[in-house]
Amino acid sequence: MITDILEMGEQTKLRGQVVVLGSGIAGAEVAMYLARHGREVVLVESGRDQFDPSIQALNDVIFLGKRHRELNPDSYYHQYLPRELRGVSRVRQFGGTSNIWTGKWKYLQPLEFEGRPWIANSSWPVNFADLLEHYRSAAKDYGFGDLEAEAIRPEITALQAKLATGGLKMSSFYWEQTPTRTAVRFGEEMRRSKNLHVVLGATATELRLDDSCQRVTAVVCRSLEGRELMVEGDAVIIATGAFETARLLLASSGQLPSGIGNAHDLVGRFYSDHPKHPTGRLQPGPLTRQYAREMQHDPKPRFCVCFALDNATQREQELLEHIVNLKPIYEKRTDRLWRTWRRRPACQDDNGTVATYRVLFATEQVPYKDSRIKLGTEYDALGQRKLEVDWCFTDHDRRSMAKTLQLLTQRFAQVGLGTLDFEDNPPSLETMTDAAHHMGTTRMASRPEEGVVDTNCRVFGTDNLYVAGSAVFPIGSSYSPTFTILALARRLGQHLLQTTPTTTQLHV
Ligand SMILES: Cc1cc2nc3c(=O)[nH]c(=O)nc-3n(C[C@H](O)[C@H](O)[C@H](O)COP(=O)(O)OP(=O)(O)OC[C@H]3O[C@@H](n4cnc5c(N)ncnc54)[C@H](O)[C@@H]3O)c2cc1C
Repeated sequence: MITDILEMGEQTKLRGQVVVLGSGIAGAEVAMYLARHGREVVLVESGRDQFDPSIQALNDVIFLGKRHRELNPDSYYHQYLPRELRGVSRVRQFGGTSNIWTGKWKYLQPLEFEGRPWIANSSWPVNFADLLEHYRSAAKDYGFGDLEAEAIRPEITALQAKLATGGLKMSSFYWEQTPTRTAVRFGEEMRRSKNLHVVLGATATELRLDDSCQRVTAVVCRSLEGRELMVEGDAVIIATGAFETARLLLASSGQLPSGIGNAHDLVGRFYSDHPKHPTGRLQPGPLTRQYAREMQHDPKPRFCVCFALDNATQREQELLEHIVNLKPIYEKRTDRLWRTWRRRPACQDDNGTVATYRVLFATEQVPYKDSRIKLGTEYDALGQRKLEVDWCFTDHDRRSMAKTLQLLTQRFAQVGLGTLDFEDNPPSLETMTDAAHHMGTTRMASRPEEGVVDTNCRVFGTDNLYVAGSAVFPIGSSYSPTFTILALARRLGQHLLQTTPTTTQLHV
């Protein structure tokens, strides 16, 4: 069932076996997974069915260092939002940020979990095999096509082999035609569900602990209209995105002054994104012309590719993973005349003749303790402290990017992909924008001295508090975090099934 906090009394109590905070891809997935398996779930969501700017304003932050992208009233990609909010990087509404996202799904590669000795703090305490069954089952249920079959398609392996001779590698991602919107995907099932109770308009503002300070006993929720709701459960999952997850843990300081899970001052630290630079160009070379169909973006849904330096080069040169994504820009009449006059061969795909490719260059970050979010001194409309964001980088990030750009430019030309050109605006960490991929603020680790959650996404020092979402990523790795968010949410659901009895078992 779905209700609004306004349909409840001034002060209400609810109880579920599992309480989930947030209805984005992470929260909706784990809540539905548990409800379908017979668990009683209460899902608390700050937003409502309709987008509400006053609720969205609860997301406002203060930037201390590098800022996120500027808002852009003309943004084509954010038409869903009111003009003055186009460009925000997360959405407070039923369905969360999935209401505006682009719908590209990508596995992390095995190496990205293993850790790279030349990048400090780069390993995950789980490996690719731990997530594989969840990637597979999610791909099947959501209909993402078969990424593993795609990886061995003859055209892909042939192109990969040619790139490998030039020290480059390539990976694929699945691009949906209509990006998954969780409110659409799950809304009707949630409304009909007997096990799941969704409460909209309710913002979790505090977690209460028992006397041992190890067990969350209740979640305090409030609404802008002044309603209060107390939700109790055997397990609580925070799925509010990397910013709000850290904020809630830090703000829950009634019993533990530095906040919950923060005994080692790690909550909010290691914040990373995928800085990106979308304005380069590639003049296609012979290899791109030969494989132009593999580089098409339309019609969707389809698999698309991106390029990077190969693993051996990254290891030798101690580099991060920086990727290049190509978007075809098709010829107009003047482009054709210009090409014919210069006797350049046409670069043809199924949609037309490609004049040039727009280059999106994006990078992972070195996990860096000083890159962080913390509670500030300003307050929001619910009286909660706003977040201050200090997004910053290391010298290693800078060196790695400069070297990679140099090598990519050489190798793209050598293998025949073409000429990379950033004109007078080469990518730099100063000019690059965020990609709305917030990660790392409650990183996963084997030991509490190194992270905030354990390998089951349970907050260290607690018995029953979990995190779902990219807050747990120890390192951002390659572009597009959401497939891994989904796989981890499934894995967490499976873990909790083993520790929570079904409702029928409860009632006998
Ligand atoms: C324009 C855009 C395009 C993107 N494209 C891609 C892409 O193609 N591929 C990709 O992998 N990623 C992409 N991303 C990133 C992707 O959208 C996120 O990784 C993903 O949606 C995060 O899901 P989530 O459930 O963790 O968080 P969210 O979707 O942000 O959900 C968090 C939920 O928690 C709620 N909430 C917050 N605080 C509270 C509170 N205190 N109490 C109760 N509820 C609360 C929010 O209202 C929200 O509903 C894109 C992002 C943007 C902005």
